Amino acid sequence: MTIADLRIANADVVLPEGVRRVDLIVDGGVITEIVDPSVAVATTDVVDATGLHVLPGVVDPHVHLGPNITFPQSDADVSPETRSAAAGGVTTMLAYLMSPTPYHDVFPVAKQAMEASSVVDFGFHFCVVSRDQLDALPDYVRDLGVSSFKFFMNFRGEEGAYLGLPGNDDGFLFDLLQSCEANGAMLDPHAENIELVWRLRAAGLVEGRTALDSWNLARPDYVEAEALNRLAFLARVTGASVYAVHTTNALALDVLRQGRHAYENIFVESCPHYLTLDVDSPCGTYGKVNPPLRTASDREALWRAVAEGLVDTIGSDHVPRHRSFKEKDIWTASAGFPGLENLLPTLLSSGHNQRGLPLQRVAEISSTRPAQLFGLYPKKGVIAVGSDADLALVDLREEYVVHGADQLSASEYTPWEGETMTGRVRHTYVRGTRVFSVGQEFGAPTGRFLERRSSGATALEVSA
Ligand SMILES: [Zn+2]
Repeated sequence: MTIADLRIANADVVLPEGVRRVDLIVDGGVITEIVDPSVAVATTDVVDATGLHVLPGVVDPHVHLGPNITFPQSDADVSPETRSAAAGGVTTMLAYLMSPTPYHDVFPVAKQAMEASSVVDFGFHFCVVSRDQLDALPDYVRDLGVSSFKFFMNFRGEEGAYLGLPGNDDGFLFDLLQSCEANGAMLDPHAENIELVWRLRAAGLVEGRTALDSWNLARPDYVEAEALNRLAFLARVTGASVYAVHTTNALALDVLRQGRHAYENIFVESCPHYLTLDVDSPCGTYGKVNPPLRTASDREALWRAVAEGLVDTIGSDHVPRHRSFKEKDIWTASAGFPGLENLLPTLLSSGHNQRGLPLQRVAEISSTRPAQLFGLYPKKGVIAVGSDADLALVDLREEYVVHGADQLSASEYTPWEGETMTGRVRHTYVRGTRVFSVGQEFGAPTGRFLERRSSGATALEVSA
């Protein structure tokens, strides 16, 4: 008789069909049985998880790593951020690699850095910024297992120069959509109409109620919504799958709802910060991000869109630049902030505990749906027999106060500083190995690269 590795016993487990008191049997990193607690199964280890809920490990589809958020190159780029991920119940992250040079050169460097230091599993998206990269897209899917691509609709003229990236136009976007469609890939565009931002800039900056409000007024909701409207139309014309990253506001949601009504392969991501922070939050310039934090009514529109299913996924848009880049005025502070460690806690605290968002819905938007859309399902994204034992064990009742100083990202701050969260990640397992427990040391890095041969509609067909 064979003996399995691990039993996670006496927890409430978030399964696709609902929350059930069942035990999980794990062997070789995979869930091999889901049994009633009364059923005897021989295992080497038993973890008594009484009082805890088990969710599928978070699949964070939106992470930036490395110097100036280009691509991870060293232990310092990877170790603190992936530990921060594990502490937030994240078991898989998809990181954006960003370079004007060919990804056949960049990819091995990033992959090696991650394999050497990551405590969670990982895949990549590539930011496509040049015609050469566009031409190589079929090879990226086939040779490198990368099937989703970022495009900056706002990088016109010199707008991307600060990241070393050339300008682009709608013609390039159209070609990129066609290539994604032809290769079973998905485009993840950053949607802002920069020409409308330039117009506002030329007219003179408007002082808002707060620094964050001034930033919001410089790149208002319609700047994002107009670009999404154009994107949805071009997706429909080309038949491409598109994924609206970091959606922030009610007007943008209206545009996406209409776009999806006409054409189904439009997918929507939002972020924990757009759901829980706004222009009146106390975080000040630490909360500067593109697109900007919006208003309280936009936050509530996003929660409704999460509940109704318009929002498919939640990504952290983690940016680990050090706090010193943020401790400036609102116009010169850098955009973006760390979020990996707070993604699941904000969904549990503000979503489940405060707004009654069902735990199955939390699991769908934080794990199942991103795994499905990015070609990882059902290996990732679900607690089911045959799936990887990637698990977040949480105490839904535990309260704690968020402090940047306690968090593991090298950025040394958080825009949620001082917020009380109800619902804490106690343990995180990746392929059956416990990689994080509150108050314990981390073990050796064991993160693995995940090849993804399709994304979007093609991935949904494969996983159905
Ligand atoms: Zn981003």
